[in-house]
Amino acid sequence: MRNLIMVRYGEIYLKGQNRPFFLKLLVSRIRDALRCQHAKVWLNDSRIYVSDFDSQDECIIRLVKVFGVHSVCPAVEMDKSNFEDICKQATKMMEGLHGTFKVQARRSDKRFFMDSPQINAAVGEYILTSRPDLQVDVRKADHLMNIEIRDNAYLYVKVIPGAGGMPVGSNGKAALLLSGGIDSPVAGYMIAKRGVELCAVHFYSFPYTGERAKDKVLDLARILSVSACGVRVYVVPFTEIQMKIHELCPPDYTTLIMRRCMMRIADRIAEKAGAQVLVTGESIGQVASQTMDALVCTDAVSSRPVFRPLIGFDKVDIVAYAKQIGTYETSCLPYEDCCTVFTPKHPVTHPKIDKTELAEAPLELQRLINDAVENVEITDV
Ligand code: ATP
Ligand code: MG
Repeated sequence: MRNLIMVRYGEIYLKGQNRPFFLKLLVSRIRDALRCQHAKVWLNDSRIYVSDFDSQDECIIRLVKVFGVHSVCPAVEMDKSNFEDICKQATKMMEGLHGTFKVQARRSDKRFFMDSPQINAAVGEYILTSRPDLQVDVRKADHLMNIEIRDNAYLYVKVIPGAGGMPVGSNGKAALLLSGGIDSPVAGYMIAKRGVELCAVHFYSFPYTGERAKDKVLDLARILSVSACGVRVYVVPFTEIQMKIHELCPPDYTTLIMRRCMMRIADRIAEKAGAQVLVTGESIGQVASQTMDALVCTDAVSSRPVFRPLIGFDKVDIVAYAKQIGTYETSCLPYEDCCTVFTPKHPVTHPKIDKTELAEAPLELQRLINDAVENVEITDV
């Protein structure tokens, strides 16, 4: 008999012939996440098992963040040949629990001498003989005593929900435009959760935005990187471009032109990094640069698709999401973003592409963009 952790996966179940590929990747992601725990991780009979860890609690904290993990169950593995031992162990695992319970057996070894309803009844009865204070409720029990009969018997009560999604690396690569705000880290998280590898592009306007603003963005990338399995951050020097826009373009177009420059540069970095799409934290109508017309205008300069997972989200919902994934506090630190430098009083809200092109015509776009891309600073977090 030994303690281990049983990991259940979610959506991968739906995969047909590709399931082994997804499972292999998930196991490898779990191994990466638990490397410092020296844990053994293996796949057997549609479950992933973790054993021989330094600390079970630490392993669970790490496991629930791995995309592809549906839930995590601290379990006891035991020999299935002695049924009375199983009953005793189940009773032991109910110690300290009160109210109603239900035994939920799953027999994947069809040669086992009892079927699932028989196991439920027998173990339930055994528990009740020593715990008359408990009651069985088959519809809405306070506690589920799970017993899985596989190569061995596995018993668990606690089921801790995992992050869900798909293992990172199963679905291409994206370049996330990462500001220090609340939205873009959430957007990145949502995309990574679908199995997409991330790199991040941050536009940095020193000295208008200071060293601490950059550190804040790197901290946000670090939080993302736990679930996203490592993120390369490209910090783009953006001051010259912003100054030139401010100097040479009509004030009502400056924000929009700045956003188009961001897209062009991110597009170039994505090309280098092998990212197929760009991701931003925009949502329709949140600010002037996110009206439908403005989004069409910024999209027009990217050669690759721009994904905006928050497009239909209200701010309150984004904030709730940010709190849940642990980026909110860092996002709220009060350092300036380059977007808030040189903000015009009356930004255009219904821009047209041809007018925007005219407005940005005085800029030496190619040279400015080349300079910015050549002077990018790379940090792996
Ligand atoms: P919030 O609205 O909470 O400030 P935000 O910074 O993400 O969040 P905006 O400033 O409206 O929102 O910017 C819209 C999007 O543009 C961001 O979600 C982000 O993807 C991108 N973006 C803005 N500023 C930067 C920046 N300095 N570096 C990289 N991307 C940026
Ligand atoms: Mg912002």
